[in-house]
Amino acid sequence: MKVTEVISDLKRRFPNEPEYHQAVEEVLTSIEDVYNSYPQFERYNLIERLCVPDRILSFRVSWVDDAGNVRTNMGYRVQHNNAIGPYKGGIRFHASVNQSILKFLAFEQTFKNSLTTLAMGGAKGGSDFSPKGKSDMEIMRFCQAFVRELWRQIGPERDVPAGDIGVGGREVAYMYGMYKNLARENTGTFTGKGIDFGGSLIRPEATGYGNVYFLLNMLATRGIDIKGKRVAISGSGNVALYTAEKLMSLGAVVVSMSDSDGSIVIPDGLTQEQFDYIFSLKNDYRGRIREFVDEYPGAATYYQRERPWKHVNCDIAMPSATQNELDGDDARALLAQGCIAVSEGANMPSTPDAVKEFINAKILYAPGKAANAGGVSVSGLEMAQNAQMLSWSAEEVDNKLQSIMANIHEQCVKFGKEPSGYVNYVKGANISGFMKVARAMMAQGVL
Ligand code: NDP
Repeated sequence: MKVTEVISDLKRRFPNEPEYHQAVEEVLTSIEDVYNSYPQFERYNLIERLCVPDRILSFRVSWVDDAGNVRTNMGYRVQHNNAIGPYKGGIRFHASVNQSILKFLAFEQTFKNSLTTLAMGGAKGGSDFSPKGKSDMEIMRFCQAFVRELWRQIGPERDVPAGDIGVGGREVAYMYGMYKNLARENTGTFTGKGIDFGGSLIRPEATGYGNVYFLLNMLATRGIDIKGKRVAISGSGNVALYTAEKLMSLGAVVVSMSDSDGSIVIPDGLTQEQFDYIFSLKNDYRGRIREFVDEYPGAATYYQRERPWKHVNCDIAMPSATQNELDGDDARALLAQGCIAVSEGANMPSTPDAVKEFINAKILYAPGKAANAGGVSVSGLEMAQNAQMLSWSAEEVDNKLQSIMANIHEQCVKFGKEPSGYVNYVKGANISGFMKVARAMMAQGVL
């Protein structure tokens, strides 16, 4: 396999899919040597079978808004690979959603799920529907319309969706309710469900908490204590908020948050009261992060339409909003003011240029597929609880989450340690994730 040839072939066959090309190139570049040392992989054409999803479902979603207008959106489900378990991955509702973004996310999900040690294949789905400004009833009608088409393609042993950007507990509940109604079954298809109907404790917290646990494992390799460290976070959604909560409970100082309209930088760090305000603003009122500076004048500066990276003074960065939200210039600005670690809550938030900067500077850098795998891990634990018709305690789930994140960290070190001693977590995560999927595909023959 020659990465340049594979990528130019993919670009020719699937043009106008830049995010997908970017994700594939990043993975193939880091597994190239290992892949080429197993001639049987090439004989079985594993690369093409792994780069092209098993199938892509795309469909029209028609729904009625509060004014009685009939609206349409596109819906998708990319079932990427099920060699090690049922397809598993979130659903994203955001105006920017298209096939390229979902193909990149499903591709990444396959290797991420492999790293979790649980039996889950990779998938991703979503719609270009934007929940922003929609009423609760509109959200419900849209979710029901989306599942009216999707339900035939999913199931507890087949494909288990969950949340992602724009899809939280409310949306999962509406989709699960509709699925149950149509499928006439109570199996836990969908994770991230409410606690009263098959959800797992710690699932809402899992991605953010898991990212902090991964960060602690990385810091431990250099004997660094999290206490007192200044951490810049982007986003103010599910992942960002629980990252901030866990960091603050460990004595770290959270110095920024953002949303798609802009960023706040809080030089002295968020107080517990200020964090509670943002949590409620985002979850109860679906408000905007700029409202923070009106509520707490003088505590923070708001940067309209800007990301936080060039404005913060921090030791650690945890991008937790969306893909390609931290570019080469942002990376150089972070490094110039002494950033020692970056741990990604979002999927592919750093551009290739930024990743190069972090690795060249030999700071601790964890790619999303390792650092944010806590969310899907607890989704896997939710599936296990549903299958047994049991609920585990928060402590039990949290302990399992901590040990899964430690295990992922160990795999990254095993496959990513360079002769100099530097751990290249990108390489470690990609090789470890790939090898398990590759072995499973080889064992099961050409499908
Ligand atoms: P939410 O919808 O809860 O929050 C997303 C946050 O990011 C919001 O603050 C949102 O702002 C901001 N955001 C979204 N799009 C953009 C954009 N284009 N530019 C700037 N800011 C943006 O989503 P999650 O917290 O669940 O997801 C965040 C990231 O984490 C995503 O990359 C997701 O794929 C990844 N992830 C999530 C997991 C989960 O369990 N939820 C698991 C693993 C990864 P606004 O409100 O203004 O849109």
